[in-house]
Amino acid sequence: MGARILNGNAIRDQIYAELKGEISSLAAVGIRPGLAAVRVGDDPASKLYVNSKIAACEKLGLASFHVTPPASTTTDELLSIVSDLNNRDDVDGILVQMPLPKQIDSKKILDAIAPAKDVDGFHPVNVGRLVAGRPALVACTPAGVMEILRRSDIPIEGANAVVIGRSDIVGKPMALLLLHANATVTICHSKSKDLPGIARRADIIVAAIGKAAMVTPEFVRPGATVIDVGQIVVKDAAQAQRIFAKFPAKLESFRAKGSVLAGDVHPEVAEVAGAYTPVPGGVGPLTIAMLMSNTVKAARMRRGSSVPSAAAVRPRCCASASRAGSLPENPWSRPCCATAIFPCSTPMPSPMNCSNQASLPTMRSCANSAARFSSRAEPWTARSSARSFSPMRRSARG
Ligand code: NAP
Repeated sequence: MGARILNGNAIRDQIYAELKGEISSLAAVGIRPGLAAVRVGDDPASKLYVNSKIAACEKLGLASFHVTPPASTTTDELLSIVSDLNNRDDVDGILVQMPLPKQIDSKKILDAIAPAKDVDGFHPVNVGRLVAGRPALVACTPAGVMEILRRSDIPIEGANAVVIGRSDIVGKPMALLLLHANATVTICHSKSKDLPGIARRADIIVAAIGKAAMVTPEFVRPGATVIDVGQIVVKDAAQAQRIFAKFPAKLESFRAKGSVLAGDVHPEVAEVAGAYTPVPGGVGPLTIAMLMSNTVKAARMRRGSSVPSAAAVRPRCCASASRAGSLPENPWSRPCCATAIFPCSTPMPSPMNCSNQASLPTMRSCANSAARFSSRAEPWTARSSARSFSPMRRSARG
């Protein structure tokens, strides 16, 4: 019997349907969660990524603000933009698209984002909260992988999970999420010895390496679940031929376009695995879905008890958390809690609570910095726009 394909597009659509209900319930009390995307310069890949994030906001009815400073922007100028967004009441989530131009200190920028608005989950406060098993904004790609596993009924508790890759944005948070869900986790990296041997002990393999088709069938115990995070554009004809020898449609696509997308997992792994995520159409769609989910979650968390409970629209499997009426002790150990909006009767402790924003360094000049850098002004719809800030470009259109 062939391996089960874990369809990321279908899972993304489920999550969007749930989020739409959540967003309508917030709209009923006058709240429209808003995501600000900052893209520095004109890198085509960054443009594509940010545009698809903004398109997702528009599809779901979230407010979106697109800030596009030039490639020559300095660290101080970008800090000023971030500070501006930190202080805006209509912005619930901030993402700064990576990579940034060389002259910008990326760590400084990521650390300057208010943890309560850090929808990418990269801020050390959110990382620390994840380590401690406390509610946090969690990095989108690993949170998306948890959704795939849970919604596909792949058993996690007690499973041997091998995560290949230890980056801050995928491998490490992935390992923590699996650990919190009671898997026995092994983390591998470029210095690990006998990788295939370690991987073959796994019930679940998560490959986040960035090396096309590195995980071959010899890494996989028959019946194991294989999650492929990798997204590599293969441009070399010989490499494409090696990877996709048994996949004529892919080779045809390579010949037509001069490139083909591959994952970290060799496609022939499908002959051995019990279940696997395809590339494309596996993990990729979940990353943006979780960004949307984090934006809605951030909107609720920031407002604390001033918004009604999300129980009415929370997915059925999270009902237990809602019944308890308080934050689950260990939210990641519950089914589908990567998307769960924690009950809002419990405000987030400092520094997640944005009432602490006054203590953030303020830069008066930043009120208009975003507008200064935007290439086109459109009216925006969020409540406080007229009050304090100039309009910003808020759409991916064009
Ligand atoms: P990264 O920062 O480059 O990290 C790669 C990790 O893989 C490192 O920990 C590295 O080990 C390890 N590694 C490299 N070569 C290895 C080898 N031969 N054997 C074992 N481990 C090896 O990459 P990343 O940001 O985590 O991304 C990984 C992949 O996921 C990339 O293809 C990226 O495009 C993709 N990605 C996809 C999404 C999505 O939405 N689907 C999101 C993010 C990333 P060391 O630490 O020892 O160097």
